[in-house]
Amino acid sequence: MTDTQQIFPDWYRLGINNIWLPYTQMQTVTPPLPIVKSEGVRLTLADGRELIDGIASWWAAAHGYNHPHIMNAVEMQLRQMPHVMFGGLVNEPALKLSQRLANLLPGDLNRCFIAESGSVSVEIAMKMAVQYFLNKGERRSKFIHFRGCYHGDTLGTMGVCDPEEGMHSLFGDVIADNILCDLPRSEGEAERFTEYLKENAENVAAVITEPLVLGAGGMVFYPPETLKWLRIACDAAGVLLIIDEIFTGFCRTGTMFAIEQAGIVPDIVTLSKALSGGVSPLSVCVARDHVFEAFLDDDPLKALMHGPTYMGHALGCAAANASLDLFESEDRLGQVAQIERQLKAELEPCRNLPNVKDVRILGAIGVVQLHDASAIEALKPQFVDAGVWIRPFRDIVYLTPALTISEDDLRVLTQTVYQVLNQS
Ligand SMILES: *Cc1c(COP(=O)(O)O)cnc(C)c1O
Repeated sequence: MTDTQQIFPDWYRLGINNIWLPYTQMQTVTPPLPIVKSEGVRLTLADGRELIDGIASWWAAAHGYNHPHIMNAVEMQLRQMPHVMFGGLVNEPALKLSQRLANLLPGDLNRCFIAESGSVSVEIAMKMAVQYFLNKGERRSKFIHFRGCYHGDTLGTMGVCDPEEGMHSLFGDVIADNILCDLPRSEGEAERFTEYLKENAENVAAVITEPLVLGAGGMVFYPPETLKWLRIACDAAGVLLIIDEIFTGFCRTGTMFAIEQAGIVPDIVTLSKALSGGVSPLSVCVARDHVFEAFLDDDPLKALMHGPTYMGHALGCAAANASLDLFESEDRLGQVAQIERQLKAELEPCRNLPNVKDVRILGAIGVVQLHDASAIEALKPQFVDAGVWIRPFRDIVYLTPALTISEDDLRVLTQTVYQVLNQS
């Protein structure tokens, strides 16, 4: 990894000075790795080395890379019709996907708005919530959001992210000033939250949270009761509840959607990441009937004024439909249960290592939290040298592998985590 010229191909040397990388200080950046191929749970580097992937591309590649069923569906759709505008026109993959998601989601979450990225679907959810009340003659401009939550990087979603994580202070007035709360952790706190919400309801359009897992906020878990309390509080105050399932959706936490563990029906749900099996940018914002009905009127101004260019993307929806086929035909929930057992057994020994503060597992998410976050940067090249793709952040080393990962490959990941942390 020392001589860039030798290892990195031409396209890398020619393009690297024209690319801007995510979340990266470009002056001091460690050169990113050139990837030339993906297959199953393996990534191939330009120099031929293979890495076992413990992250599954921010957990989007739930069925592993290049799954033939998704590849076939996308190839067929590509030849027939990759994309046609959604204004005035619809396509079969988009309508099929909407119908299937409405059937999969609980309650009357029946209306799907299909966009390209997770952040955009959260923006749409927020816009829906504000206009829902406008259409009922009420002007409500605030959102209640929670410490540790992440909902995207766009300006609107930054206003509902944890302010410290999102570096809100730097952006000052550009970001909307919403109401930051702590997630209620006890019945007493839940009651106080309900009272608070009732008192402030006239300004609040929606409460928004990630269900069960605060992903980007450090993979913090919380129990399903909290979601029940939020539903009760929102019902009592007449405020909408937006649940962001972009990380948790599609089996990651042990159920198809995390909200199933709480038995609640949010007013709006956002989906992305594993939605398309990691093949295409795609997101869906799903609304309940009563939310949709608030936009029905003779007045055209009461319509939802939103429509991304690539809305209802046929290619992306074909990938998502093929991904849903796999969730139906292959035992992903069984695989998650197996992964959870193995992660519990094989990551638990890390708890005894001196720099380890906590080990926690939920579904196909394994987290080892360190005492000393400054040790994290030095770990990154060690994982690559050991032949795995694990990318720690903040103070945590985490695994969110493809749900199809074999027992042996998962063992390589867990043992590498132990060995690297043991040597550091
Ligand atoms: C990744 C993520 C987002 C943002 O999705 P993008 O596609 O990156 O815009 C929003 N919310 C949650 C919970 C996420 O994990």
